[in-house]
Amino acid sequence: MPAKLLKGAEVAKEIRIELKAEVERLKEKYNVVPGLVTILVGENPASQSYVRAKQQTAHELGFYSIQDDQPADLSEEKLLEIIDKYNNDPKIHGILVQLPLPKHVNENKVLLAIDPSKDVDAFHPVNVGKLMIGEPDYLPCTPAGIQELLVRSGTEISGAEVVVVGRSNIVGKPIAMMLLQKAKGANATVTVVHTRTKDVKFHTKRADILIAAAGVAEYVKGDMIKPGAVVIDVGVNEVGRTADGKRILKGDVAFNEAVEIASAITPVPGGVGPMTITMLMKNTVRACKVHNNIKD
Ligand code: NAP
Repeated sequence: MPAKLLKGAEVAKEIRIELKAEVERLKEKYNVVPGLVTILVGENPASQSYVRAKQQTAHELGFYSIQDDQPADLSEEKLLEIIDKYNNDPKIHGILVQLPLPKHVNENKVLLAIDPSKDVDAFHPVNVGKLMIGEPDYLPCTPAGIQELLVRSGTEISGAEVVVVGRSNIVGKPIAMMLLQKAKGANATVTVVHTRTKDVKFHTKRADILIAAAGVAEYVKGDMIKPGAVVIDVGVNEVGRTADGKRILKGDVAFNEAVEIASAITPVPGGVGPMTITMLMKNTVRACKVHNNIKD
């Protein structure tokens, strides 16, 4: 029987309905509106489309939102000044700097400049550290989306063998750390594999939950998957363009093979992607509550 599709787009829709209700409640009861700024430096088309999607969702949920587009040659100093301005703007609760930044800008310096209490991407070392010790204020969006998708689909995480392909700071490492925690929706036994791993297939083959975040189109083949595994495909790889110029996207998993072996799998697109944006919105609502000292 082919695998069940874990449709992140549908789960994300459910969560957005919950978030919209919360935004309305905050407005009525406390007269506050979550505020999000997205800062985009340069004109990378993929980044532009991600930022547009984030802004559109923020708008749909009734946020106060600002899209701050800056030229590619913006100096690092000027970018730090802009961040400082939003750090001190009481209407803004979440600051997102779209990565990657142009080469002349030191990304780590920029991420460090964001007030950790407004760091809705959760990339600031303070938030990374809090996640590590199991006391996060904000969870990084893609890993949070993956965890939420697993939990809401009823996947047993506690005690499961989880194998993560990839060790990036934005996906591989944080999802491994989150599922490892002694906490609800976690308690897994986690292995992380990467390009220096001696035998990737040996590990992926024993995963009850396999999370592919390698950034290589269709890297995980059917014979690398344990029958009945839950497969989360994080990859978004452009493999070409349609005649009318639309991007053709493939995940990190060979979907047609995997769907015959796994018990559940996320499609690309429509799997992890929509969850990522929704978790950003969730973090922004949380930041708004933190900044307004709202506890309920
Ligand atoms: P990344 O920074 O390029 O990291 C890729 C990781 O995969 C690295 O740790 C690399 O190992 C490992 N890797 C690459 N090829 C491998 C191989 N052949 N065997 C084993 N490990 C291998 O990528 P990322 O930022 O984590 O993103 C991963 C993918 O997810 C990309 O396709 C990206 O577009 C996508 N993504 C999607 C979302 C979403 O919302 N849907 C969000 C973020 C990212 P080394 O460390 O040894 O180099």
